[in-house]
Amino acid sequence: MQGQPVQRVVFDERFERLVPAGARLEHLASGAAWAEGPVYLPDEDAVIWSDVRGDRVHRWTASAGDAALFTPGDFANGHTLDRDGRVLACEHGRRRIARYEADGTRTTVVDRHENRRLNSPNDLVVASDGAVWFTDPPYGILDDTEGHAAESELGGCFVFRLDRDTGRLTIASDAMVHPNGLAFSPDESVLYVSDTSGARIEGGHHHILAFDVVDGGRRLANPRTFAVMKPGFADGFRVDVEGNVWTSAGDGIHVLDPRGVELGRILLPETASNCVFGGPDGRRLFITATSSLWSVEVGVRGVATPWV
Ligand code: MG
Repeated sequence: MQGQPVQRVVFDERFERLVPAGARLEHLASGAAWAEGPVYLPDEDAVIWSDVRGDRVHRWTASAGDAALFTPGDFANGHTLDRDGRVLACEHGRRRIARYEADGTRTTVVDRHENRRLNSPNDLVVASDGAVWFTDPPYGILDDTEGHAAESELGGCFVFRLDRDTGRLTIASDAMVHPNGLAFSPDESVLYVSDTSGARIEGGHHHILAFDVVDGGRRLANPRTFAVMKPGFADGFRVDVEGNVWTSAGDGIHVLDPRGVELGRILLPETASNCVFGGPDGRRLFITATSSLWSVEVGVRGVATPWV
């Protein structure tokens, strides 16, 4: 096996099973200006990921290594799969959610709310009813670093829900200043969303909120602080089948149990931005971190996506 033993911080003995001592950390790709948005494609044993500030989208496979998939990449950020296994992308450049089509093109899924352009969709997740939930902070319109400088047409930054059946886009939450990463609990009763503004927590720390998902999966209720992040912020995260939240942070990946208790950390030499479970057995955690794509073999699978 390639790689090096992972560096860990263990706060709780449960972490020993989740990330065993001696688990191998592999460095898969480098050279990005700001790596983000990984999605795992089970049919291809591949990872598509973004270099947001480098304006490229990459594709990594175990057999062929890493290569540019789109250059320029419309300042793509978060990716996920829809119920049909197609790739959905958040694109700062076109301020939209895009879908990869079989002919190699990317089409617009949504780019407006009530005739006003979105800010710059950042990250997204698809519920089992096919609804697309995504965050829309301003990072792609603040300047030209990871998008195109522009005024916000919405006058705020929201969590949105796009109903698959009606095509209706609704504001699911206005409780955050800069909503960013998001993920469901395994039974979809809870949606976790990070706020990377640092505006609402004493000391300027960033946090993750938890919401109850109510009304048959259509609405959020009861926002509460799930975790306060130190160091850094929870740019993106995923949930395993046991309900633990694996979140990016300033020093690597922090693993939190469903009550928000931190179990341990995977330390990385770069600031982590996001992660995704993959590999043939679902126990390989792919991590985007500043310049690089990494992976760690872990002891638990990510939440299953039953449509792939
Ligand atoms: Mg993000």
